[in-house]
Amino acid sequence: MRTGEEFLASLTDGRYVQYKGEQVRDIAAHPALSVCVNHALSAYGPTPRGLSDADWIVQQQGGPCSVFYAVPRVPADLLRRAAAIEALTAQQWGQFNIIKVVGSDVLFALVSLRDRLAADGTAPGAAEAVDGLLHRCQISDIATAAAVTDAKGNRSLRPGQQRGGAAYLRIVDRDAKGIVVRGVKLHTTSAPVADELVVLPTRAMAAGEEDFAVSFAVPTNAPGLRMLCRPVREELDPFDNPVSARAFEIETTTIFDNVFVPWERVFLAGACDLAGELARRFATFHRFTGLSYKPPLAELLLAATRWIVADNGLANKSELAHKLAEIINYITVIKSTRTASAVTGRLIDGGVFCPDPVATNAGKFYFASRFHDIAGLCQELAGGLMVTAPSVADLRSADAAWLSAAFDGACHDSHRRLIAMNILRDLTAGELGGYNYVAALHGEGSLGAQLTAALHEYDFAEGERRLDDLVEAVRLDKRLAHPVY
Ligand SMILES: Cc1cc2nc3c(=O)[nH]c(=O)nc-3n(C[C@H](O)[C@H](O)[C@H](O)COP(=O)(O)OP(=O)(O)OC[C@H]3O[C@@H](n4cnc5c(N)ncnc54)[C@H](O)[C@@H]3O)c2cc1C
Repeated sequence: MRTGEEFLASLTDGRYVQYKGEQVRDIAAHPALSVCVNHALSAYGPTPRGLSDADWIVQQQGGPCSVFYAVPRVPADLLRRAAAIEALTAQQWGQFNIIKVVGSDVLFALVSLRDRLAADGTAPGAAEAVDGLLHRCQISDIATAAAVTDAKGNRSLRPGQQRGGAAYLRIVDRDAKGIVVRGVKLHTTSAPVADELVVLPTRAMAAGEEDFAVSFAVPTNAPGLRMLCRPVREELDPFDNPVSARAFEIETTTIFDNVFVPWERVFLAGACDLAGELARRFATFHRFTGLSYKPPLAELLLAATRWIVADNGLANKSELAHKLAEIINYITVIKSTRTASAVTGRLIDGGVFCPDPVATNAGKFYFASRFHDIAGLCQELAGGLMVTAPSVADLRSADAAWLSAAFDGACHDSHRRLIAMNILRDLTAGELGGYNYVAALHGEGSLGAQLTAALHEYDFAEGERRLDDLVEAVRLDKRLAHPVY
C-alpha cells in the first residue's frame, strides 16, 4: 500500500496551486495550507481507533486495497466503508477527510455504468478509462478529489445559454487522441492534495448539450489546470482553536484552461442521457458518505456540551438533559438511516451494491436541515463564555492566577474548561463553525437536490394502488349499482 511519505512526495509534482493570488510550489511547507495536508495524510496513516486492520486495508483478489476503494458488492461492504469513514472522521476531531472517499463515490457510479458508457461509443476509450481509474485507485492507492459542481451562472438558463463561456465545463475540441476541456468547477474539496481530479457533469444534459456531457479523470499537474484555494485563518494556536489548528479541508475554484485529456481517461463525451444517470448514481453514494461522516462531529459536540453542563454543576437538571437527549436523537437517526439505506440497498449494474436512494436522501436531508438546531442547542447549554473567553496568551500573562480562579468549574480546572469552550466555538461559532453550517447544508448537494431525488426515486405505486382500491370501493355509482344494505 502507498505510504504517507509517498503521498507527501507526490505533492510537489508541478501541480498549480494558488493561495491569495500567489502560486504555492510546496503546499506541505505552506504555513496555513500544511494543516490540510496533514489532515489528508490521515487517509494514508495507521488504522483509526475502533477499526480492525482488516477493515482498513481490505484483502481483495488483486491484493490489498484501501477500504475506501473496495467496490461494495453486498450490504456489509457498505457498512464496513461507513464504519471506516466514521472512525477516520472521529480521529480527525469530527472533520471529514474526503481524500479517496469522494473519488470512490464517483468510481462506484462509473463502475456501475461502465458497460453502458462503453456501448454508447461517444467516448471510445470509456471502458479502458473506468478500468484504469479502478486500477489506479485499488492498486496505486491514489488520492482523489471530485470536481462536479459547475459555476452554473444564471440558474434559470441552460448551460449553452450562459454568458462568458466558463459557467459549465465543456469540450472545446476533440481529435483522434482525446478532448480539450474548458470551464470552471467550484468548491473542489482537497483538490490541491489529490493526485487526480475525477470530473463529472453537475446535472442531467439535454439533446444539444453534448459538449457539456463530459466526464474524465485528470492528473492535478495537467497543463492548464489551476487550483485557486479559498482563504483560511492562519497561524492558529491549538488551545484557542483546538480543531481548526489541526484539521480542515481546503476547497478550490478549479480552472480548466484548455486542458487536454486523452481518450483512455475519458468516461463520457457527449452522451447526454448518461450524464444525468452518472450524476444521480454518484449523488447517492456521496450522500451515503455524508451519513457516515456526520455523526462524529455531532458526537464531539454532544461530548463537549455535556462536559460543560457537568462542569457548570447542572448535570442533574432534567430540562438541560432533555436538550442533550435531542442531540442523541439526531445522531441516532442519522446512523439509523445509514444502516437502513445499506440494508435495503440493491445490486445495480456491474455488480455494484448501491445504498437505497430514498433512505439515503432522507437521512442526508435530515442531518442537513437539523444541524443548525443541534449546534444551537450546544451553544444554548454552554453559555456565552464559548465566544468571550480570553486567549491562550492571557493564560500566560500576569493575570493567569485571576483567570484560573475565575474559570475553575465543578469538575475541571480552568484550562480544561476553556478548552471545552473553545472546541464548541471552533466547531459552531468560529470560522470553521460557519464552514460547518454551510457544509452541512450544501455538501453533497443542496436540500432541494435531496427532495428532488426523493421525488425521483420514491416508489409511489403501492400507495397509489391502495388509494385506487379505496376510491373504487366507496364510489357512489358502484354502491348504487350494488347496494350492500
Ligand atoms: C464545504 C463544501 C464542500 C464541497 N465540496 C465539493 C466537492 O468536493 N466537489 C464538488 O463538485 N462540489 C462540492 N461542493 C458543492 C456542493 O455540492 C454545492 O454547493 C451544492 O450542490 C449546491 O450548489 P451551489 O453551491 O451552486 O448552490 P445552488 O445550486 O446555486 O443552490 C442555491 C439555492 O438555489 C436553489 N436552486 C438552485 N438551482 C435551482 C433551480 N434551477 N430551481 C430552483 N431552485 C434552485 C437550491 O436548491 C439552493 O437552495 C461543496 C460545497 C460545500 C459547501
